[in-house]
Amino acid sequence: MDYKDLANLIFPNVKDISYYEEKYPRRDLKEGAIVTRFAPSPTGFVHIGGLYQALVARKVATQTDGVFFLRIEDTDQKREIENGILDIVNSLKDFGIEADEGMINETEEKGNYGPYRQSLRGEIYRAYAKYMIELGKAYPCFCSPEEVDEIRKKQEAAKVRPGYYGVWAKCRNLTVEEMAEKIKSGEKYIIRFKSPGREDRKIKHHDVIKGNVTFPENDQDIVIIKADGLPTYHFAHVVDDHLMGTTHVIRSDEWLSSVPLHLQLFHEIGFKAPKYVHISPIMKNDNGNKRKLSKRKDPEAAVSYYEEQGIPAEAVKEYLLNIANSTFENWRRANPDKDIEEFELQLNKMNVSGALFDMVKLLDVGKTVISKFTAEKVYEEALKWAKRHDEELEKLLENREYSLKVFGIERGNKKPRKDIAKWSDVKENIEYMYDELFYSKKQDYPYQVINNKDEINKILTLYIEKYYNDEDDKQTWFDKIKELSGELGYAKEVKEFKANPEKFKAHVGDVSTVLRVALTSRTNTPDMYEIMKILGKERIVERFKKAMED
Ligand code: GLU
Repeated sequence: MDYKDLANLIFPNVKDISYYEEKYPRRDLKEGAIVTRFAPSPTGFVHIGGLYQALVARKVATQTDGVFFLRIEDTDQKREIENGILDIVNSLKDFGIEADEGMINETEEKGNYGPYRQSLRGEIYRAYAKYMIELGKAYPCFCSPEEVDEIRKKQEAAKVRPGYYGVWAKCRNLTVEEMAEKIKSGEKYIIRFKSPGREDRKIKHHDVIKGNVTFPENDQDIVIIKADGLPTYHFAHVVDDHLMGTTHVIRSDEWLSSVPLHLQLFHEIGFKAPKYVHISPIMKNDNGNKRKLSKRKDPEAAVSYYEEQGIPAEAVKEYLLNIANSTFENWRRANPDKDIEEFELQLNKMNVSGALFDMVKLLDVGKTVISKFTAEKVYEEALKWAKRHDEELEKLLENREYSLKVFGIERGNKKPRKDIAKWSDVKENIEYMYDELFYSKKQDYPYQVINNKDEINKILTLYIEKYYNDEDDKQTWFDKIKELSGELGYAKEVKEFKANPEKFKAHVGDVSTVLRVALTSRTNTPDMYEIMKILGKERIVERFKKAMED
């Protein structure tokens, strides 16, 4: 009896690996093309860190005319949830990230290197496990979970490293005959890798982001096929990334310490190892302590949070690129209007330790991003968000034509307004332009320097009776406010007032504030000329009347 007989006994019905090697030919891509992937488990939660990885992977694949695919790692079936795949696909779609190959919904996929769902690749893994057994590099292990637990306890007591290795690896040294005997008598088993490594030797490795790293060799006989017939992550990674032609494994740096094992597996099975790109986690400043963004503690860890808040996908992506490469900020400054697609992301310039997530900065990016949208786009996006999250806003936006005017205020010019950071800001931002909301709420009219009721009434009355005209252009409109100011003893120019404050009651700016507050009940609004134009004389008069009565 030899290894081959043992392999046949364990896996009598699997194909030879040559079948798969032919079925999935090497990809014919140009030199330097990066083939990479996003390989999440469908656990029902898409972490912002996952989106970050997917964005980076998509980007470098596109930049090099490579391939980006979505592989679903669902070999841990205990953790699976319903519609987990769809959640992932839709989250990526929300951020405009589309894979060239891979799962497109719960059951369908595209591309020639599938199945892209690991639970459907069982026979492929078993073929490669069989091959490893034939080579004498994997073996059946008959230790029950209880026995493995026993071993761990003994290791703890002896204060040695835990695991299944060296002298502790009981089944490793069984003869082929002994193994066959146990199998024939119906003993349960799993398949383990027979590691050739020694813990007292070091391996050197170059990670694309982390640079040169040194680790002890792996000496653990890790499980490659579990009792349920499915592979562990380690083995699936090696088989899949080999067959799918992955050139760069872009993944979270929690896997960095597994690199010695993975390189060893690639080497022992005889495949070329891919490059590894270990991305640092996104960190949060928690009262001065830097820690990972946590799924449990931080709502912003979930990708769904951004949609709920109405932070535009464009802003999130732009912000993540900011985190990814410190050169992005300068690039953006030099190219304020370019699409982020044009930014050349460099993997080896990515942050070695975790970058700090800064919500204030993200919202600031959001303001800039939205400021560049057309009124139509702002309208469509705000409406889309409102339909999902805010009925009142949805109603407000019913009148498209009017809303486009409102969103058009100070937009499309050189210095567009930057007052909306997220769609959930919109209602509060525009509600005073809608009579149904303006009149249904108690307005507090926060007058400033000029706050005497009689004086305010005098200004408002005179303005309407003598000065306001719907037809005026902006210059005339403003000149008239100056004249009104002069007539009532206010300085027509701020400069003039500053030179001789004792000569005036206040200045034109203070008079404008009275008009603004009476119209909108706010001290701060975008351009008042445009606001008046949209409201029109009748509504202005009505609003002044209300202001005088209140
Ligand atoms: N399923 C693994 C994870 O979600 C994938 C790691 C990888 O990209 O290889 O962490």
